[in-house]
Amino acid sequence: MKPTIALVGRPNVGKSTLFNRLTKTRDALVADQPGLTRDRHYGHGRVGEKPYFVVDTGGFEPVVDEGIMFEMARQTLQAVDEADAIVFIVDGRVGITPQDKIIAQRLRQNDRPVWVAVNKVEGMQRAVVTADFYELGLGDPVAISASHGEGVRDLINEILDGFEVPVDEPEADHPKFAVVGRPNVGKSTLVNAVLGEERVIAFDQPGTTRDSVYIDFERNGSPYTIIDTAGVRKRGKVTEMIEKFSVIKTMQAIEDANVAVLVLDAMQEVSDQDARVASFVMETGRALVVAVNKWEAANAEQRDRIKREIDRKLSFLDFAKFHYISALGGQGVGELFKSIDQAYTAAMIKIPTPKLTNALQLMIERQQPPLAGKVRPKMRYAHQGGSNPPVVIVHGNALDHVPDSYWRYLERSFMKVFKLQGTPLRVQFKRSA
Ligand code: GDP
Ligand code: GDP
Repeated sequence: MKPTIALVGRPNVGKSTLFNRLTKTRDALVADQPGLTRDRHYGHGRVGEKPYFVVDTGGFEPVVDEGIMFEMARQTLQAVDEADAIVFIVDGRVGITPQDKIIAQRLRQNDRPVWVAVNKVEGMQRAVVTADFYELGLGDPVAISASHGEGVRDLINEILDGFEVPVDEPEADHPKFAVVGRPNVGKSTLVNAVLGEERVIAFDQPGTTRDSVYIDFERNGSPYTIIDTAGVRKRGKVTEMIEKFSVIKTMQAIEDANVAVLVLDAMQEVSDQDARVASFVMETGRALVVAVNKWEAANAEQRDRIKREIDRKLSFLDFAKFHYISALGGQGVGELFKSIDQAYTAAMIKIPTPKLTNALQLMIERQQPPLAGKVRPKMRYAHQGGSNPPVVIVHGNALDHVPDSYWRYLERSFMKVFKLQGTPLRVQFKRSA
């Protein structure tokens, strides 16, 4: 599993600057989708072989105890509790402030490893600027400059040293789907509905509260793995405990699945949190099926509303199938499985080079890439560069000049030609040698 690094610190010390630096490489690979909520607080990165998640906690207001600031503080504390490592950023030009001391005190109560990063110290003497910060009682401070990139790589390497490189697991040969969504939408009810009638082969107890439960089962003789982010702990329990939403758990489950099942509540509005989970799915490129749950209980007005909101707020999920289900009564669960199978098959497809190249030629015949000044981008052939999501690598010349709209046209057309339902597809350009 990828380790998660949480960035904490008072406002203005350089958290978002560091966050951007730590996630930049990855961002470039994900083409911006129209309507995609870019969440600048959660991201992926990699140094060398080692991948990681980063969470920018966005601030630290340890004193407030109600209202929206309280909610922010609660989320920060949750991220701190769930992270594998914490980078506590302080400002080397300002020195220790009272707020730094309060944060340090909170971090010392936690058993997570903490690195104190003394930021903004480009051009300064490391030993001198860090000396002050031993007083925080959190070990040896490290000097960095987030905006100049100094010391950042060393810091991350040191943090990741304690974690094993996640071995690239062999691709699962069967659908492995994560049931995700915000609290109370009906995730555990859906998991129970699915498992109620199936043969459960094995399941692991979660190691920690932020771990999901993995359950292997068979349906109609075929193997599946369900990644249950709500946790089987709820099974059979009468108590209605509303779970805390864990961003880290959700991100890891999506990453580890080959299909995500996003559960929405038909009786509620599509919230920012729903859109954020949907955006994670887009960024990882996982296949997706959407289950709009509690359909039997929604009245006509609510049904209209959620459909309108899906069109407006989740338009970037247009590649996915939507199902209107009732997990409680088990209605629609069978159909949901058909889409899970279909999305899995589409995500794992292997298309031979001649077929891709033929399809590409037809697309170009139907619509040429536009001239960029005097040059016209020339596309010669295409081959597949990966699965889950399928990546099509197009070779040619002057491909830097292909506009985004044409890029989308190619992506859409490949999806249509190869009848890929339920997975995004990405086109990448490569200059011919
Ligand atoms: P946040 O509020 O903690 O997220 O802080 P920001 O990342 O927004 O940075 C606050 C200010 O500090 C901005 O003006 C940044 O340009 C500046 N800053 C961030 N990192 C550095 C650095 O390494 N050196 C210098 N000189 N300024 C920095
Ligand atoms: P989770 O937090 O996402 O795991 O949600 P739960 O599975 O615990 O469900 C939250 C609440 O919604 C519970 O009271 C469920 O009984 C209820 N619920 C779940 N599915 C349905 C459904 O299909 N219809 C209705 N009316 N209620 C449902």
